Amino acid sequence: MRSLLTILLLSISLCSNAQHRCGTSIYTEQLSAKYEDYSKARSKVNKETEDWIKKNYHDQIKTIIKIPVVVHVVWNTNTENISDAQIFSQIDILNKDYRRQNIDTINTPNVWKNIAADCEIEFCLANTDPNGNTTTGINRVQTNVSSFSMNGDPVMSSSSGGADPWDQDSYLNIWVCDLGSGLLGYASPPSSWPNPNDGVVIGYRYFGNTGTAQPPYHKGRTATHEIGHWLNLEHVWGAWGSCGNDQVSDTPIQETENYSCPSFPSTSICSGQSNTPNGDMFMNYMDYTNDACMNLFTEGQKSRMIAAINQYRPNLLSHSLCQGGVSAINKDITSSKKIVKIIDVLGRETQEKKNIPIFYIYENGNVERKIIID
Ligand SMILES: [Zn+2]
Repeated sequence: MRSLLTILLLSISLCSNAQHRCGTSIYTEQLSAKYEDYSKARSKVNKETEDWIKKNYHDQIKTIIKIPVVVHVVWNTNTENISDAQIFSQIDILNKDYRRQNIDTINTPNVWKNIAADCEIEFCLANTDPNGNTTTGINRVQTNVSSFSMNGDPVMSSSSGGADPWDQDSYLNIWVCDLGSGLLGYASPPSSWPNPNDGVVIGYRYFGNTGTAQPPYHKGRTATHEIGHWLNLEHVWGAWGSCGNDQVSDTPIQETENYSCPSFPSTSICSGQSNTPNGDMFMNYMDYTNDACMNLFTEGQKSRMIAAINQYRPNLLSHSLCQGGVSAINKDITSSKKIVKIIDVLGRETQEKKNIPIFYIYENGNVERKIIID
């Protein structure tokens, strides 16, 4: 009897410590129940996205899109008030993951290396707040709330002990706090309806790769994954259960989520049905594997994210909220050159200007003189 009781208590304690990788599916249902307009708008998103990609994606002028971020650190204990260094580490990870500059790209299986995407999306801590004042892009708020729930979103409002969002059309709002129930993070997928609960929430133990970050979720991939949802990506196994569809053609059909880190190839019943002998793409950022196991987005996922920004988050395409003031820099379609900075004729760093000569300095040392005609 005693041993049975011990097992029971042990299993209860294991359950209460269990980590829940992502709350976005349930969160989207909560938002849809709360806001009828969100539910209606979300039901149109897949068709609108498919149409946009067909019409625009191949013809678009390729750009690097820079997303301005505000990180709201909502803290109750000193430990939860994470350091600037930890926040910088997360921004750095996002930039590497979304530009495919992460060092673990070498772990992507050869069969998928040709569809692994440089998503041409970058992130910066915003340099200007909604009132036009200079900011670090970090907003620290002390709270009496010891642990936040996803239910009702208290962390997104000062009236419930959280922090109010900055203009959600212009900024990516990320809240970092103590999230209860072992939840690592959640996000609001986009639609044409302006959602007052828009943003990404991450537990302070799963943000960045230093300070309070805890293995196996200590390499910043929770934010990489949740921002994927914020930019309209589904989980790789699809939205509706077994062998589902994630609306992306280059990710293999997959039975369900993967945990830990399987060895390649990892096949399931769906691999046989759909003739995908390479099995699950468990190293995709939109699976549930350990942070150290993940290393790619695909070209299909990239097209969906670019479509989401163009359709539902267009303010991110043109703004001056990132350092240097240039958000989207036109790039030669055939070129993969990376611009380091833009200078004027006197050698001063400048923004893109019309009708006067400016110089683009590239990472490889090349310089190009340009005049943009208005
Ligand atoms: Zn998720």
